[in-house]
Amino acid sequence: MQNSFQNAMSQLNKVAKIKNFNNEFIARLRQPDRDIRISIPVKMDDGSLKIFEGYRIEYNNALGPYKGGIRYHQDMEINEVKALAFWMVLKCAVAGIPMGGGKGGITVNPKELSKGELERLSRAWVQKLSDILGPKKDVPAPDVNTTSEIIAWMNDEYQKITGDKTGAMITGKPLQEGGSEGRDTATAQGGFFVFETLKKELKLPEKCKVVIQGFGNVGSYAALIWNKAGHDIVGLSDSKNGIYNEKGFDIEKLMKYKKDTGSLSGFSNAKEITNKELLETECDLLIPAAFENQITGTNAEKIKAKAILELANGPIAPEADEILFKKGIPVVPDILANSGGVIVSYFEWVQNLKGEHWSEKEVFDKLQPMLEDSAKKIVEKAKESNTDLRRGAFILALERIEAKTQ
Ligand code: NAD
Repeated sequence: MQNSFQNAMSQLNKVAKIKNFNNEFIARLRQPDRDIRISIPVKMDDGSLKIFEGYRIEYNNALGPYKGGIRYHQDMEINEVKALAFWMVLKCAVAGIPMGGGKGGITVNPKELSKGELERLSRAWVQKLSDILGPKKDVPAPDVNTTSEIIAWMNDEYQKITGDKTGAMITGKPLQEGGSEGRDTATAQGGFFVFETLKKELKLPEKCKVVIQGFGNVGSYAALIWNKAGHDIVGLSDSKNGIYNEKGFDIEKLMKYKKDTGSLSGFSNAKEITNKELLETECDLLIPAAFENQITGTNAEKIKAKAILELANGPIAPEADEILFKKGIPVVPDILANSGGVIVSYFEWVQNLKGEHWSEKEVFDKLQPMLEDSAKKIVEKAKESNTDLRRGAFILALERIEAKTQ
């Protein structure tokens, strides 16, 4: 299996073949502007010193300051960060916001650290990178396992080092420290706006049977939002296991249950299934909201969903894209479907720089037309080139970036 960055480059190559982009422009997009690796020594609670590996990839800033999350994960490696940074470049372009793309992270399992250790590690990441970060240079955000509390430590550390009090160096801050209303639910809410815009195009029924992989920030809010809109969430999973009920689950109750027990297992009327079975469940809409490379050449043939909406980044490998396209299963690509998160991050940055605070209604009233517009343009681009929505999204993004590349 290819790594995530190889997957990202295969996607780029496929688009470069069907559209006549300038070769030098495409060559520039095959490498990040900067690839920064740092070692982070942290004093542990028992007095020992542990060295962690950290990253920041600044991929491309043709459209504006580098923008992208920080991920904490024990399996984090540089190719994954590079792929995520590349997709951020395209995502910001699709969204039509003046931001470039980047991504960062630390190879760590945050669950194995005490709160104090986690704080020292997070502050040290900023100390090592403070020269390259900044509101007009590089603006990180949360990603997997980075909470608003971690972001608040990072923001505080940056302010101590530089004296910058705007809070615009980082987004995803707690509300009282300059965070934006709506940021927690923005990715899932944005995905829902895209789904509503494309529902007819995807030939989906009014009331859908929905399966969601992942029950973290994005997956749990997606389950809640789709459920509140009248759809049945028939299958769900987290890293431990999956559950299924053809009549659908009460998501508010399930969220409380997961919070109390730490698991989806044992919830009333839930049939336990494996993660593999979950992905292959018959449904109208499948929403991967966990990690990369979940649908590959091995299982794509067995997917029975009528359509897929990618809320996770890179959950479908390129070879699976081809199989799904041939099977007639449309895929709403991550760089459109989950772009609500980065758009609201951008709103946070704007609010910080202007010293404003917008209501949640204002935030979503601004978000919805942007996503509707991008979704419609991507469908047009895909139809013009007789290709899938992912390539349509890439074409839209690459045209916008090329126009601003000197
Ligand atoms: P999270 O850490 O809150 O949640 C991840 C979820 O996936 C958890 O429920 C975890 O148990 C589950 N999981 C892990 N491995 C799994 C497996 N093998 N099978 C099933 N479930 C598994 O992270 P998140 O913020 O919800 O991010 C999820 C995805 O969405 C990532 O790909 C991330 O890059 C992407 N994303 C997040 C945002 C955001 O705003 N948080 C924005 C855009 C994209």
